[in-house]
Amino acid sequence: MKDHETSELIFLPLGGVGEIGMNFALYGYGQGDRRRYIAVDCGVTFPGDDLPGADLVLPDINYIAQRSDRLDAIIITHAHEDHYGALLALWPTLKAPVYCTPFAAAMLEAKIRSEPGAPQIEIKEYKAGARFKAGPFDIDAVHVTHSIPEPVSLMLRSPLGNVLHTGDWKLDPDPTLGQKTDEAHFRRLGDEGVLALICDSTNAIRDGESPSEKQVSDSLASIIGEAKGRVLITTFSSNVGRIRSIALAAAQAKRQVMVLGRSLLRVCEVSRELGYLDGIAPFLPEDEFKSVPKDKLVVICTGSQGEPRAALGKLARDEHRNANLSPGDMVVFSSRSIPGNEREIIDIQNGLIELGVDIVTDTPDSLVHVSGHPRRSELKQMYEWTIPQIGIPVHGEAAHLTAQAGLMSDSGIPSVMPIRNGDMLRLAPGDPTIVETIEAGRVFKDGHIIGNRDETGIARRRILSFVGLVVMALVVDRNGELVADPEITCQGLPQMADEDDSFEDILYDAGLSAFENIPRKKRRDDGRIQQAVERAIRSETRELWGKKPIVTVFVTRV
Ligand SMILES: [Zn+2]
Ligand SMILES: [Zn+2]
Repeated sequence: MKDHETSELIFLPLGGVGEIGMNFALYGYGQGDRRRYIAVDCGVTFPGDDLPGADLVLPDINYIAQRSDRLDAIIITHAHEDHYGALLALWPTLKAPVYCTPFAAAMLEAKIRSEPGAPQIEIKEYKAGARFKAGPFDIDAVHVTHSIPEPVSLMLRSPLGNVLHTGDWKLDPDPTLGQKTDEAHFRRLGDEGVLALICDSTNAIRDGESPSEKQVSDSLASIIGEAKGRVLITTFSSNVGRIRSIALAAAQAKRQVMVLGRSLLRVCEVSRELGYLDGIAPFLPEDEFKSVPKDKLVVICTGSQGEPRAALGKLARDEHRNANLSPGDMVVFSSRSIPGNEREIIDIQNGLIELGVDIVTDTPDSLVHVSGHPRRSELKQMYEWTIPQIGIPVHGEAAHLTAQAGLMSDSGIPSVMPIRNGDMLRLAPGDPTIVETIEAGRVFKDGHIIGNRDETGIARRRILSFVGLVVMALVVDRNGELVADPEITCQGLPQMADEDDSFEDILYDAGLSAFENIPRKKRRDDGRIQQAVERAIRSETRELWGKKPIVTVFVTRV
């Protein structure tokens, strides 16, 4: 029996399918316990208010961490956080070489340099457009257009069939940076035979084709050309094509360019090193902000998602160290609102309006942003070029995945598999089948610790953030008499329970009288004291406040 007759070709997404963010896909080839794997992408997502204290949200990759000796490579399709942002946190449990294009490699190296204690990740470079081998797969990295330099789709060849993992892509007849999506290459892959197409669903709800980056560049140029005061443009920091267009438009309008915000500065440094900003004059240092005439300055800054500590947030609150805005200045949001960030963005916009600043956002009349993902007509093109046997929508929430699944079926793809994170799909041999369901989900980076809600304490911390904490300590002798006055402290409770009394005083009395009401004989039992005092404090706060805080009572026996 030949090896491949008993071997299987497997696709197992552990992140990014059923959510936008934290992409992590496993591909396996081989037989049973000898199956070898590669991972495609290793992304993060960012925590909201429901996860107090969490720094990052990471995919639960325990399945492959337990088999890390069989993981041959982690291949990064591009340097967006939802595709490579979890590497620093998760690589130590995987330790497989990380394959990146030169831009992604330089971004990763810059990130490692800036984070103390970051792991020394083994990075291997591949070139967009080139062919290379990793683990059991013979791979083509195909040029696509997206909103960052050097994005690729990956053709993964195996003896049981070829899988085309699109990564993030769009069609753009006129990108401002990098190559066009390589139609001829995709057609060749279609001729060679694509068993399964694993495809970006982000914009599968939107009809037609996405506008070109060139249109955005033109409309930003006319805004800059007509402006009288300062022009600030906030955008996603990795969009180097956009940064380049803005800088060219500024030069044309005889304005100088300043960049504010750490992540943008890092991207610009890497981009200059790799030649992506060739021909662009050096950017001004931020301490020259006030010395440049208002009509001679364009500022590109971070903070498009309302991040309070980013440059734009500080400017909106007039708290920036070196820069300040005044009436007649203009802020252009060359970005979209990522769902969940709307409130923070509106807060920043209100702050800017209070400063007398004009705001421009993306509307059909002023196209100042385009998405880097394919709409329905573009998706259909991809199906036509690659003629897959199996279609699998990924990179989306349920609504996006379902929209693409429908489009795939309508477009005649014979087998469409609407799977979710944790579904282990056997692509070959035989019909595609879910053979196992693996535990998948989210874990959290919380300081130096990675774990689930309970392991990190985030679940309990969340309760604390709603109800606060009361601690009371009693020191009792052998006979059950208090040796000293009890101590009490309240954290996160209202200060006053009524006009005259603080919560601390009232809860102190409640705890003390609960103790005194225990018959002396029964005060020999520490547990009993604890329970009675806790209960009294809890019921008192419920009565006065309508809430039950976390209550901890210490009994010390001397
Ligand atoms: Zn992306
Ligand atoms: Zn993405």
